[in-house]
Amino acid sequence: MLGLYIHVPFCKKICDYCDFSAISVPESYYLEYLDLVSSELRNFAEKHPGVMEKVETLYVGGGTPSVLSPELILRLYGELGSVGVPLKALRESTMEFNPESCDDERVSAARECGVDRISVGIQSFDEKLLDHIGRSHRAGTGESALDLLTRIPGLRVNADLMFNLPGQGTEMFLRDLRHLLEFPLGHVSFYGLKVDPHTLLGQRVARGEDVVDEDLYAPMYRGGVELLESQGISRYETSNFARTGCESLHNLNYWRRGEYLAFGPGAHGFFGGVRYHAPEKYAPWRTYVRTGFPVGMLTLDPVGKSEELAEIVQLSLRMREGLDLETLRRRGWTVPEEVLSRWVGEGYMARRGTHVALSGDGWVFMDRIVEDVYCNCVPYSNLE
Ligand code: SF4
Repeated sequence: MLGLYIHVPFCKKICDYCDFSAISVPESYYLEYLDLVSSELRNFAEKHPGVMEKVETLYVGGGTPSVLSPELILRLYGELGSVGVPLKALRESTMEFNPESCDDERVSAARECGVDRISVGIQSFDEKLLDHIGRSHRAGTGESALDLLTRIPGLRVNADLMFNLPGQGTEMFLRDLRHLLEFPLGHVSFYGLKVDPHTLLGQRVARGEDVVDEDLYAPMYRGGVELLESQGISRYETSNFARTGCESLHNLNYWRRGEYLAFGPGAHGFFGGVRYHAPEKYAPWRTYVRTGFPVGMLTLDPVGKSEELAEIVQLSLRMREGLDLETLRRRGWTVPEEVLSRWVGEGYMARRGTHVALSGDGWVFMDRIVEDVYCNCVPYSNLE
């Protein structure tokens, strides 16, 4: 399956914990960005005729795509349509919204462009926490956004929450999650805070002014999973939960190592066996586009045999469906039985047919298990 990702790098305000490719600039940049990303799309379409027509899932993320006015949203999707993306025949078309820019006009513009899934960054309903991490919206704004979105017939809605925030206890997180479940959502994602030393929050942590209690990660994660699963919203990836049929096809394609094109500053793509991305910062990306897309400005990582192995193990074990040992063998690798038996014996992994998948607290220790499985993989022929 072929996906397409568009990165809109703008945010009204940069959150204190943000380590994404996001900038806060005057709105005059938005028009310039649209011209640039349109050139990038047209350049690709000219060099690869017929490929845009094969796109099955579209994800417009950021940053905050919903900072764009309704007119600019129509223009962005109009450009996608004009290069051949079958906007009205996609299997899934997602756009990210932030609560403060989630209004009737923007949502209607997105719907007009074929968007059938909106992902909204709620993060928390706790005013103090929202302030503490530098979010620009209020708890009530998050509630209004969810209220608006979940009333729209045929629209699939995801809400993101964060946990393990400084000053957040397990009960506070579960309160947020319970409140979220008052809205009729088909999909929920929650992410443990990762403190990047280059962010404002990271600097506060380094100075000892803020503390993130790593010991709370596991109880919060377990509690969150239990609560969602008790409501019929099941984990299908380590941070993603859905009612049956509401899983994100676009994201599943990432984890299943399908191909996806990517446009915009720092957007990562995977096409023709190569992982690639354009310059991450806005100004060098603008230069990249304006100087005719010099290949030297792209970061290109061809996926060789060992990278392929790392990806298969790492990405498969993130998902409920797990790692297919048959697929692994077909790619020339196998995991020694004693490695799997150890994790299965401890209850951290389970076997299902030819698959092994995380189970129980294996999800909490995922990084350790992935590393162990990957490091112990051996060429299949070595065992014969
Ligand atoms: S809204 Fe998201 S992308 Fe924008 S600054 Fe906040 S965390 Fe970063």
